[in-house]
Amino acid sequence: MATIHREGDLSLLDGTVAVIGFGSQGHAHALNLRDSGVDVVVGLREGSGSRAAAAEAGLEVRSIADAVRGAQVVALLVPDHVQKEVWDASVAPSLAPGAAVLFAHGLNVHFGRIVPPAEHDVIMVAPKAPGHRVRELYVSGAGTPGLVAVHRDASGRALDLALAYGVGIGCGRVGLLETTFAEETESDLFGEQAVLCGGVPALVQAGFDVLVEAGYQPEIAYYECLNELKLIVDLLYQGGYEYMRYSVSDVAEYGDLSRGPRIVDESVKQRMRELLEEIRSGAFARELFADDEAGRPRFAELRRQGAERAREIERVGRELRALAGVEGLLGAEARVRG
Ligand code: NAD
Ligand code: MG
Repeated sequence: MATIHREGDLSLLDGTVAVIGFGSQGHAHALNLRDSGVDVVVGLREGSGSRAAAAEAGLEVRSIADAVRGAQVVALLVPDHVQKEVWDASVAPSLAPGAAVLFAHGLNVHFGRIVPPAEHDVIMVAPKAPGHRVRELYVSGAGTPGLVAVHRDASGRALDLALAYGVGIGCGRVGLLETTFAEETESDLFGEQAVLCGGVPALVQAGFDVLVEAGYQPEIAYYECLNELKLIVDLLYQGGYEYMRYSVSDVAEYGDLSRGPRIVDESVKQRMRELLEEIRSGAFARELFADDEAGRPRFAELRRQGAERAREIERVGRELRALAGVEGLLGAEARVRG
């Protein structure tokens, strides 16, 4: 059984917490900590669009370097692909002696893109929800579950500090599950690649393509393969596999049990193991970081190819969503992130 903490000593956060970035996680952490009685400053680059929002919320806003200077804890909550640049330019040169560095996802630390000097605690508090939920639930008196991890314990109390922070943002109300930077990062990458963002959308599109190629109307294929997915996911989420199988028709259940294993068979699991190995060996991270450093040429090409493959399902989807009055949810809240 995992170790789950529900308590932390907020008085350990007796200095200032510098929250760098005011996006999905940043705004929620800054406001929740402030409302928990912690002294918070928000560090933003000059000309950042978030400056007004943070100031309006009554938070003190400084340049990133000024926020970092003198802070007891520096929470680096800018997007993962810009963390290295922000770290090098504005965080590392201004870190106070003994300051702790906190992340909400382990990618850059676990794969060695950011290596804080040895005297600093390096910790993680990662809410398992997008930032707007972290804020919303805190305000309502509830909380979101979170992960907590220590990459380096320089002070001898790094875990306690992380727990205090986790309690400050409201995760203690539900539970802070102890993990490691390796486990959080590798499982997160695997989940998004194999199942959430890679596997399931690719399965949906393959099903859509097969029906359309066989001459069925694209609108029918869209409803069957994409629209109804939400119903199935909701059932799984609410009650698990047995509940889903109980709720669908017997014909659907028979098809599921007899045909499902032919679609996702041992060869699919074998390729999942290959993805996991690429993640664990660092090969995926090296590829990603190298592309970032080159200005993302491969990413741009992959985006072009992805849009090309999805052209038909997107065209039909736009029309049917407009008919149903379903608005596209763009923006930070709708994005699935580490
Ligand atoms: P985000 O994209 O919502 O916000 C990033 C913020 O960083 C921006 O609002 C801006 O203030 C700042 N920023 C953006 N580009 C910058 C640049 N070039 N230089 C300086 N500042 C810049 O990011 P997020 O989703 O809150 O992610 C922050 C961290 O939290 C990441 O490590 C992410 O993996 C992790 N995380 C996110 C979620 C989530 O649901 N969004 C959940 C758990 C963990
Ligand atoms: Mg993730």
